[in-house]
Amino acid sequence: MTENAAQTPSDMPIEVRLADERHACPSGKLGFGKVFTDHVFVAEYGGEGGPGWRDARVVPWRELHMSPAASVLHYAQSIFEGLKAFKGDDGALFTFRPEMHAARFVRSAERLCMPAVPEELFLRAVDKLVRVEEAWVPTAPGASMYIRPTMVATEGFLGVRPAQSYTFFVIVGPVDAYYAEGFAPVKIWVEREMCRVAVGGMGAAKTGGNYAASLYAAERAKKRGYAQVLWTDAKEHRFLEEVGTMNLFVRIGDEVVTPPLDGNILPGVTRDSVLTLLRERGVRVSERAITIDELRQAADAGTLREVFGTGTAAVVSPVGVLGFEDGDLTVADGKPGELSVALHDEVVAIQRGRVADTRGWVHAIP
Ligand SMILES: *Cc1c(COP(=O)(O)O)cnc(C)c1O
Repeated sequence: MTENAAQTPSDMPIEVRLADERHACPSGKLGFGKVFTDHVFVAEYGGEGGPGWRDARVVPWRELHMSPAASVLHYAQSIFEGLKAFKGDDGALFTFRPEMHAARFVRSAERLCMPAVPEELFLRAVDKLVRVEEAWVPTAPGASMYIRPTMVATEGFLGVRPAQSYTFFVIVGPVDAYYAEGFAPVKIWVEREMCRVAVGGMGAAKTGGNYAASLYAAERAKKRGYAQVLWTDAKEHRFLEEVGTMNLFVRIGDEVVTPPLDGNILPGVTRDSVLTLLRERGVRVSERAITIDELRQAADAGTLREVFGTGTAAVVSPVGVLGFEDGDLTVADGKPGELSVALHDEVVAIQRGRVADTRGWVHAIP
C-alpha cells in the first residue's frame, strides 16, 4: 500500500484548533505514560475520502470514535512509535533522530499492510504537536516529553484482509526521569519456553501484537521476582534476542556483541546510536548471533563484563542478574558496567544539547 502515500500532498496543511481551556503540566510525580497534554494530532486515510491522508489537524484531546467492528479491535492491525522531546537549557526544543522513527513507521506499516504515512507528514505532525504543547515539556533533570505516534485500522468490517480506512494520531505526555532512584541494574529472567516473535513473524515491526504476545512471560517473570525477560529464539531457545522491550548488548572480554537485525530484532534507534558511539570509541563491536552457552561460558571464565538493554525510554538499562532454572547468574560484580554508564551519559548529553551534535542526530523543532 506504500504507493498510496503518493496521493498525499507533501505540503498538506496541518490545521490547529486550540482547546478553550488549557491546563498546566501537573506538579509532582509523572511516572511514564500516565499524563497526557491537552491536544492530539489526528489524520485520516481511506474510507469515503478515498486513498491518501487527509484532515491533518491538531485538536483538543478527545476520545477516538470508531466502529466496534473496527479491524484494529479484532485483528490488531496497528503500529506505533516512541520518541522523546527535550527542552534545552536555553528553552529550545529538540527531538532525537526523528527521521529514523519516521522511516521505521513506514516499514512497520508495510509489514502490516497499512498505508505509509509520508515521512515528512510524520515529522511535521510531531513538530507541530510538541510546539503547541511546549509549556508541558519538562525541564527537570532527566525528564522529557514522550511522543507516541500510532496508526490503527478503523474500517468496520470483520472479513480478514487489510482494512480500507485508518487513523494516524500522535499523543504526547511529560515523563519523569527513568532513573529517578539512580542507575540501578535489573534482574532479568532468561525465557526459554515462550516467545514474542518468531522467524517470519513481525519482530522487526513496532506493533502491538508483539507486545500482547510478550505479556504472559513478563508477568510470570515478575511473579518470580524478575523485572523483565530476556527473549531467546522461538525454535531452540538458545540464541539471545532482546531484553524486555529493549535491544540487547553483551560485553565479553574486549568485544561488545548485539544480535543482528535478522527480522526478529526491532531495529532500535538507540541501538544504532550506541553502535555508532562504540565504534567511534574504538570498541570492537559485532552484530552477530550470541547463545546462552556463550554467555554462561564467559561468566564462568570471568570475561562477561556487562549486559545492558537500549531503548528510547531508559536509553541504557544495565542488567545485574540473569535468572535460569538452575539459579541466578550475576553479571560481573552486579553493578552497572563502565560502558553502560558512559553510553547512557553520552546519549543523554547529546539529546539535551549539552554536547555538540556532530552527527546530525538532534532535530531543532521550529
Ligand atoms: C521500540 C523497541 C525497541 C527500542 O527501540 P528504540 O528505537 O531504541 O526506542 C527495542 N525493542 C522493541 C521490541 C521495541 O518495540
